[in-house]
Amino acid sequence: MRLGAIEAGGTKMVLGVFSQSLKELARTTLSTTVPEETIPQMVSFFNQHPVDALGIATFGPVNLRAGSPTFGTILNTPKLAWQRYPLLETFEEALGVPTAVDTDVNAAALAESVLGAARGLKNCLYFTVGTGIGGGLYAEGNLVHGLMHPEWGHVLLTRHEEDPLLRGVCPYHPNCVEGFASGPSMQKRWGIPARELPDEHRGWDLEAYYLAQLCSNALMAVSPEVILIGGGVMHQQGLLPKVREEALKLINGYIDQEQLPPMEEYIISPALWPDSGLLGAALLAKQAWRQRPKAKPAP
Ligand code: ADP
Ligand code: ZN
Repeated sequence: MRLGAIEAGGTKMVLGVFSQSLKELARTTLSTTVPEETIPQMVSFFNQHPVDALGIATFGPVNLRAGSPTFGTILNTPKLAWQRYPLLETFEEALGVPTAVDTDVNAAALAESVLGAARGLKNCLYFTVGTGIGGGLYAEGNLVHGLMHPEWGHVLLTRHEEDPLLRGVCPYHPNCVEGFASGPSMQKRWGIPARELPDEHRGWDLEAYYLAQLCSNALMAVSPEVILIGGGVMHQQGLLPKVREEALKLINGYIDQEQLPPMEEYIISPALWPDSGLLGAALLAKQAWRQRPKAKPAP
């Protein structure tokens, strides 16, 4: 059995084919432009590399409301050409195989829980900190969708009083996580891309302060057994230790020491990154295959 996997991102689409045991058989990366151009290229890849089931890990927001007639459709994204795009339906029709869809971060949380840094745990929270900020939650062995799916990037936080940025970059909220801690927020605040900010720059302390608020809020709200943080901004070597240090300050002894593991074990890097999302998509394909409608036996 061959599993097809798509990690659909705002800038690129990563497509993969995996064996049942998750061995990679083929892969390609395409630029995300407009659906009329990108989708036929994606379908053509899977025509050349046929699969038995497909999993899609997509940027959001996406309609994941069970039973909705537009399940699997992209919602209100700043990528206007993709607004209302019926991603799931398009691939179901084009490939004719069982297909599943979830958010990129939920897929990543799934892959890390099954194969990666949260292996063996039933509660794992996966954050990505890049152009946007998102979080996927695997709770009691299931991915959480709820009303739609969690939007961790838009959790509100307290602005640092010395932050030169008076308002975050999110058009919806003056003080949300994405507005204050995404790559673009750092660029706006300091005038250079996050990747060019020197190691000793105080911008990293501010970044850690915001990500620590996110982690502390997550700990208090959903009690994950581990928090994983990936994404381009986390390439900065010194950032994760600063986040742990700040988070411990914010938790301020409230969680009993016997309950809380050392921060070095609690807030950690994903093991499969940058492939967490793609491998999660392959696992979604496996689930879609298992849940496929079975042909009725002849009477
Ligand atoms: P995307 O979120 O678009 O999928 P990434 O997760 O790679 O992509 O995040 C891109 C962001 O990460 C950009 O804002 C970029 O400046 C930042 N970034 C990339 N590399 C580094 C680095 N080495 N150190 C800090 N920030 C980085
Ligand atoms: Zn916001």
